[in-house]
Amino acid sequence: MTGPAGARRILILGGTGEARAFVETALARHGPAIDPITALAGRTRTPAALPGRVRIGGFGGAAGLADYLRAEAIDLLIDATHPFARRMPHHAAEAAAETGTPRLRLERAPWRAGPGDRWHPVGSVEEAAERLPDHGRRALVTVGAQEAARFAAIAGACVHLRAIDAAGLPPERADLRHILARGPFDPAAERALLARHRIDLLVTKNSGGAATVAKLEAARAASIPVLMVERPAPPAPGPRVETVAAALDWLAKRLEERRRDAMN
Ligand code: NAP
Repeated sequence: MTGPAGARRILILGGTGEARAFVETALARHGPAIDPITALAGRTRTPAALPGRVRIGGFGGAAGLADYLRAEAIDLLIDATHPFARRMPHHAAEAAAETGTPRLRLERAPWRAGPGDRWHPVGSVEEAAERLPDHGRRALVTVGAQEAARFAAIAGACVHLRAIDAAGLPPERADLRHILARGPFDPAAERALLARHRIDLLVTKNSGGAATVAKLEAARAASIPVLMVERPAPPAPGPRVETVAAALDWLAKRLEERRRDAMN
């Protein structure tokens, strides 16, 4: 299946709310002038529906992605993968450089601690799991299903793993519980969740964004400490924006340039 003739073909590396919002608004604004394809890694069993075309599964490293960009004649590459996607942003940078495809990194701003927050920064999820018993006995862990297994055997603590679905989570036991839920989350519900499970520690990645910030507000309100996993190293320098609106501006400029070139 191909998109509309003459349309600019855009590959969006997705798996985030930003990727979805970008595609929805870009299609609403530019209609048949664009042919967006969202690529998903395929980690979530039931991804929410997306407009435009969707491709599921990896490309086979940076070289595989470069082959795909060439084979599909991709005009623009938007890397809207999650701030904690360790490999894909690097692959995107390499493949874009190799093929000469304009690339934009869309990465939401990190959360920043404010008055009343009791954050303890850690360099990795592994470190968070190691340090968990030093900070709490009943933890809410929201690091995503992929790395949840690191919390399967924490001596002396009860761990509540929150994830979209149970795929990949270590099995439940008396001291390892699943909380299955998809954001966005609301501050009152997050406060109630912390109280219901008598949570005394929150473990999270510094993902940023509005959809899941309520847990931090709830932790602040209850004076609960937070083990905050800091972001991995960014990819090679290149155009980079923090908001969907800025990414849409970048797209509009690229489409305008193309229109001008076509007229000359
Ligand atoms: P990663 O370490 O950067 O990616 C691992 C491999 O998965 C990549 O090498 C690539 O395989 C494939 N992949 C990743 N993103 C892809 C995409 N959008 N489309 C097609 N293939 C993709 O990332 P990750 O941490 O495993 O995350 C996987 C996906 O989940 C990402 O799309 C990310 O946006 C989303 N996500 C991640 C987190 C998180 O905390 N890490 C949270 C929410 C959502 P090949 O090398 O074979 O191309």
